[in-house]
Amino acid sequence: MKQSVTLEQIQDFKGKYPKQLWYLFFSEMWERFSFYGMRGMLVYFMVNEMMMKDDVANLQYGATQAFVYAFTFIGGLFADKILGFRKSLFWGGLLMIIGSCILAFDPKAYFFLGIGFTIIGTGFFKPNISTMVGNLYKNGDARTDAGFSLFYSGVNLGALLGGYSCIYLGKFYSWHVAFGLAAIVMTISLVTFIFTQKSLGPIGLSPLAKDGDTKEADKSRKLKEYLTYAGSLAIIPFIIILVSNPEYTDIFMYIIGPASLIYLFYEMRNFSLSENKKLIAALVFIIFSIFFWAFFEQSGGSLSLFAANNLTNTVCGIPLDANGVNNSANSLFVIVFAALVGMIWLWMSKKKIEPNTLVKFGLGFLFLAGGFYVFYYTKFFADTDGRTSLDLFTFGWFIITFGELCLSPIGMSVMTKLSPQKTQAVMMGMWFLASAYGQYFAGILGANISVASENATNFEKLIIYADGYKQLAIYALIAGVVMIAISPLIKKLMQDVK
Ligand code: GLN
Repeated sequence: MKQSVTLEQIQDFKGKYPKQLWYLFFSEMWERFSFYGMRGMLVYFMVNEMMMKDDVANLQYGATQAFVYAFTFIGGLFADKILGFRKSLFWGGLLMIIGSCILAFDPKAYFFLGIGFTIIGTGFFKPNISTMVGNLYKNGDARTDAGFSLFYSGVNLGALLGGYSCIYLGKFYSWHVAFGLAAIVMTISLVTFIFTQKSLGPIGLSPLAKDGDTKEADKSRKLKEYLTYAGSLAIIPFIIILVSNPEYTDIFMYIIGPASLIYLFYEMRNFSLSENKKLIAALVFIIFSIFFWAFFEQSGGSLSLFAANNLTNTVCGIPLDANGVNNSANSLFVIVFAALVGMIWLWMSKKKIEPNTLVKFGLGFLFLAGGFYVFYYTKFFADTDGRTSLDLFTFGWFIITFGELCLSPIGMSVMTKLSPQKTQAVMMGMWFLASAYGQYFAGILGANISVASENATNFEKLIIYADGYKQLAIYALIAGVVMIAISPLIKKLMQDVK
């Protein structure tokens, strides 16, 4: 296939960021708007419109989140093997639009059908756009992490806007319009991608398409592509069954992780020892990130109950809803500080004092521990009704945000650096699969904390939640220390990758 721009031209860009990063930034921003917009409506909609009990809605919510991230592994797999990143993105985006249109049409009657489309769609979209960001950079380009940090502020800008506006429209105006908005912004995301994808040159084309392909090869590639599209539609009924019965989530989670590992080990037979060492290092990052997300994702679960029951409603004297703050403070802090953190890494790399990825990960856990310790510390500011300072709580999110910025964009970046080209999207999928497990464990952790506080007074609840967060702070601290301690070992496995 003839390309107007070559990979070298893209990767030899001048300045801080390649221009293609901005295009991917906007596609991802709108996709996350749609994704977080829907995510923010789910529990509320299930409880208030579908009349589900709180715990059932929570479990179902956990299941959707776990499935969304689990399917990024499968989306990555098909991108690596058949579709390439671009067609995967297009297909995923299309399914997400269909899913949100179904929900906009009749959210109650077709709830799980709409969710089913969204799960598969996100699976094809999410890992592959992140992998393409990595492909804009040459191996070893010190600007890569800064690029992922910028991309990550796009993620959070979308999350902030979507998370606030969709639920607002749904609660006060109409659920049809709220889900419709998710469909509209997803369409903007896809259109942005379609109009700018030419600038990506050869990045993300099908791995099966080669210059000078014979008609036969072309035909066989197309057949595989159509089978992938048809297969992804055919599994939607199964997804609906799995998601609408949360007890199946356990079984699914027991299977998908080990299956992905077996697949990776099977793939490893084709790679050199040096490549395999890097893949093992990538696995270490992935495993640690499960713990990170299990704690971090308390935000959608136990922290939202904590916010509703035990927090006041002003930040720096401004009246604000505690749940709103719990949902959006983190995104806002990411937007404000992602570029700054990116600039700090660039500045440090120029001075040759940039910490390596392991130390950054370790720092991520230390910040996480600090944030959860602040959540714990709120108990010392409580009144007799068990309400405590939203200011201090917000400060906790401020600290955790730096942890997230040390781990999440950098994790995506290092996945692209540690995987051979042929398996990049699968590794990115595994990175997000760790988030699926994080979501899954977050639900269990959160449920344990909330079960312990059943029949307790509001003040006792505060104490139980706060003490639970102290435990999490201690575990995060241990994880951070372990990560930094094993860093020399993993550094060896990473070889030239920093
Ligand atoms: N908030 C980030 C995003 O949506 C990371 C999510 C995750 O990996 N759990 O991209």
